[in-house]
Amino acid sequence: MKAFVIAEHSEAAKQLCAGARIMADEVAVAVVGVNAVPEGIADAAYHVDVPAGAILDDAAKTLEPVIAGFDAVIIEPTKRMKSVAGKLAAAAGASVIADALSIEGDVATSMYFGGVGHAQRKATGTAFYTVSPNVFVNEQATGSNGAAEELAWVAPENAVREVSSEPVPKSGIDLTASDAVVAAGRGFAEKEDLQLARDLADKIGAGLGCSRPLAEGVDWMPAETYIGVSGLILSPKVYIAAGISGQIQHMVGANRAGTVFAINKDENAPIFKQCDYGLVGDLKKVLPALTAAL
Ligand SMILES: Cc1cc2nc3c(=O)[nH]c(=O)nc-3n(C[C@H](O)[C@H](O)[C@H](O)COP(=O)(O)OP(=O)(O)OC[C@H]3O[C@@H](n4cnc5c(N)ncnc54)[C@H](O)[C@@H]3O)c2cc1C
Repeated sequence: MKAFVIAEHSEAAKQLCAGARIMADEVAVAVVGVNAVPEGIADAAYHVDVPAGAILDDAAKTLEPVIAGFDAVIIEPTKRMKSVAGKLAAAAGASVIADALSIEGDVATSMYFGGVGHAQRKATGTAFYTVSPNVFVNEQATGSNGAAEELAWVAPENAVREVSSEPVPKSGIDLTASDAVVAAGRGFAEKEDLQLARDLADKIGAGLGCSRPLAEGVDWMPAETYIGVSGLILSPKVYIAAGISGQIQHMVGANRAGTVFAINKDENAPIFKQCDYGLVGDLKKVLPALTAAL
């Protein structure tokens, strides 16, 4: 069994290689874009530099010949790499099994309807999976690869042409690497109140994340910090959800945490059925008291 990992970020490449090693005797990896391929994580390593004016989504044509002969292709689920996954699968006459949570042999368990249900699917032909790197957080990547081989860019026939670009401001927060995460939800009525969550996070050395409405509804938090099926799937040791109702689309990003704490003023909030410790109360009172007590 041979598995090929495609990622945009170095750490994701490492974790996905660790997962690929469980199922495959031979593991190869390619990182697309500006990030480097870590050494010692696979048996062969490649890097795809994206030329000026081209976009990461078009890297599929460059990767097509390199993945030939591999049984499974495991892809980091960033927006760009999902697009690469679709193009590679279409070229191979296969389809992508998205958001896989586990892979046993050639059967993958994945989420559907935003995490409401789980489905088991068997790949036909080459198996293409998008998998959150955190799924393999407890595995160790091994391999003898040294510096990655640089692949020459192959432009697709109908390449996307970049007309203009604007840098998206990045927060610099990497929640995937945080042992503790404080997550804020719509229970925060004012943007200024987020300082209460920030104070708690600072006190315990946690990263600050949020539910989707705070990042995409009101734009109070950076888009890369929202947690859930369409955002980050995390597995910190501690997860503190404040003012979050506990909808499944959010919780699939949180329920891999070691211990989940919930603070909500509604004792019937669904999150109380999914947490280890729940506190019924107004976050405006609870958070400052907690920060002061810790
Ligand atoms: C296809 C799809 C994908 C989605 N993907 C995601 C995703 O990846 N991530 C995500 O988060 N959501 C996602 N959603 C949205 C999701 O369904 C929920 O709407 C969202 O998670 C709700 O966010 P929330 O819990 O912050 O807000 P709400 O559901 O509005 O909950 C707010 C909670 O705060 C409590 N509260 C109010 N005031 C206070 C107070 N003063 N003190 C304490 N508690 C208070 C309330 O009792 C309530 O329980 C998705 C939805 C769909 C359909």
